This record gives sequence, C-alpha cells and structure tokens, in this order.
Amino acid sequence: MEIKVLKDILSTNDEMAERNRALLDSKKITAFNIMSSPGSGKTSLILETIRALKKQARIGVIEGDIASTIDAQKVSREGVPVVQINTGGECHLEAGQIGRALESLPLDEIDLLLIENVGNLVCPGEFRLGEHKKVLILSVPEGEDKVHKYPLLFSVADAIVINKMDLLPYARFDVPAFLKAARGLNRKARIFQVSCATGEGIREWTRWVRSAMSRSK
Ligand code: MG
Ligand code: ZN
Repeated sequence: MEIKVLKDILSTNDEMAERNRALLDSKKITAFNIMSSPGSGKTSLILETIRALKKQARIGVIEGDIASTIDAQKVSREGVPVVQINTGGECHLEAGQIGRALESLPLDEIDLLLIENVGNLVCPGEFRLGEHKKVLILSVPEGEDKVHKYPLLFSVADAIVINKMDLLPYARFDVPAFLKAARGLNRKARIFQVSCATGEGIREWTRWVRSAMSRSK
C-alpha cells in the first residue's frame, strides 16, 4: 500500500513536470535544474552564469530553499527576475512548486531559467521538474568519494561541475579518480572543472550553457 502511494506521488510529479516542460518549450525557455549538497556553490555558479551571459541571454531564476530568501536576494541584485520557493522543511523541489513559480515569472522575457534545487544529493535526482538539463555540482572540499555514495545523481546529470578548484592544493580530492568513477556511471555527461572564486573554467561552462540553449530550441 505504501509503495502504491509513493508511485502515485511520483507519477503526479511527472505529469506536472511534463506540463512545465510544455510551457517552457512554448515560451522557448531552456531550463536547468541545478543540484548539489549545501555549500557546494549552486548560488555562486548561478551568479557567475548571470554575469557572463546577461548581455547575450535573458535569464530568470527560481531559488529553492528550506527557509530564507538569502540566495534570492543575491540573485535579485544582479537585476534578473527571481522567485523564491521555501519548501518549509522538504529536502527537494517538486514539479508542482515549479509550476506555481512559473506563474510569477515574466516568461515572455526569459530565454534561460536557472532552478536552484534544495541542497541535497539524494532525492532531488528523483523528481523531474520539467527541466531540459540536470546539472550536478560537487565541490573539491567534499571529496571525490561522493560519486560512490550518491551514484543516482551522478548517473542522471547532463553536466557535472567540480567547483572550488582553487582549493585543490589544500584538499584531498583525487581528480583522475573522480573522473574515472564519474565516467563509469555516466559516459555522456560533460564534466567541468571550475572555480567561482577565481573564474577558472567559467568560460567553458558558459559555452556549454549556450550550446544547450541553442539545442533545446
Ligand atoms: Mg544557494
Ligand atoms: Zn527530498
């Protein structure tokens, strides 16, 4: 019985995700679902992406957090439309929440929608939101063994961003071992090595963002 209830929740989520996707496609918006642990740099990567691309693309942001509007305020200072979803304790975003957030965004004035999921490496990977691309961030201080502990997210990601590369000299993060393990789970994901602090790798990342935007049109 419990299994059936869970299945119903997931299929309702998938229906809503498809509705979101159809709306986004009709508005020619490319949407990214950005996932990571707390503190890996989701907001930092969103801010760097806005700064790099805001002359070329109209960007909108949905911020998912358990509580607070701290990240939404940071994004809003960049002059882009942003909607905050406070999940009130829930550890992931669901498609219904995205559907409601889309109602309060100026969809005719957005080309690229960046969705910051709740900081969590487990269940965000199980809930489709209607996005075109799933982006997973892992930061150097977390260690490369996360790829073994949370294989689902690594296997479903379209892009994997290793952030905080500037901290590599001070951390135990074996880049070749990580790349080998990640490739073992996911042969197609693009893998980027970036630092939002120094700007390393941001150009390669934004080039991929732009190519993903032109492919989803
Ligand atoms: Mg954040
Ligand atoms: Zn969750």
